[in-house]
Amino acid sequence: MAPTGTRLAGKVAVITGAGSGIGLESSVLFASEGAQVVCADINEKGAAATVEKINSLFGEGRAIAVRVDVSKEEDVKKMIQLAVAQFGKLNVLFNNAGIMHPADDNAITTSEDIWDLTMNINVKGVWWGCKYAIAEMRKTGGGSIINTASFVALRGAATPQLAYTASKGAVLAMTRELAVVHAKENIRFNALCPGPLRTPLLMEFLNTEEKKNRRLIHVPMGRFGEAIEQAKAALFLASDDSSYMTGTDFVVDGGLCSAYVTPE
Ligand code: NAD
Repeated sequence: MAPTGTRLAGKVAVITGAGSGIGLESSVLFASEGAQVVCADINEKGAAATVEKINSLFGEGRAIAVRVDVSKEEDVKKMIQLAVAQFGKLNVLFNNAGIMHPADDNAITTSEDIWDLTMNINVKGVWWGCKYAIAEMRKTGGGSIINTASFVALRGAATPQLAYTASKGAVLAMTRELAVVHAKENIRFNALCPGPLRTPLLMEFLNTEEKKNRRLIHVPMGRFGEAIEQAKAALFLASDDSSYMTGTDFVVDGGLCSAYVTPE
């Protein structure tokens, strides 16, 4: 079956964290809208399974998998080079890979190695992606870069994950500055701020009903979001539909950030 949509027809996209959650759904959705997709993940099997799914839905040759640790500059450089070697150019980069470590806690209990690991993946990984994508996008007169942050960068929580929260705040600040610096080159940068989602990342962390309900009470819609709901937002930011948008914190959170008292 050919792709069903055309919103990314003729575009080449690289998506990190493509083996699971938001990255998986975005890879399939982007391909369904005509993009050729490089599915990158530290979990090689996960990335390969995403490619297999895309191939089975839309035919061979629309996607390739690559193992990358986004915290390693050389890996990220090769990932971008591979996209260009395979598909000829780069139009979209979705810097989506991220971790939320179970040992990430408050200022007293969080260890330095957890802090550094989180920063290296969630912040430095985004920087490396932007660095190598900018160079390629300059060659074709522009592109769209989406960096996954989080609603936790916009609201404080009494259930701390200090390194994660700080890392996502850094993603917002970095995205904003990059957007301004590269605006006249037609390279757009937007941050996606998902609310709490029903993906492995959060569900493995909130492993009891009590922990889940402690969060859900703050979500006006009263449910966790789905990865596909973030993928649809990422598609909008990736496509020319958002051509006059750059530097935004694009919040997709079931109303969480707008709420004081939530419905019973
Ligand atoms: P997920 O755990 O389902 O998927 C994350 C993927 O990133 C995994 O496939 C994992 O293998 C990959 N990854 C981890 N470290 C990597 C590395 N060093 N290099 C390359 N790939 C790596 O998580 P998700 O919920 O889809 O999260 C995606 C993004 O959304 C993350 O940046 C996360 O912080 C953010 N986010 C998630 C939520 C949520 O509630 N799930 C909320 C806000 C923001």
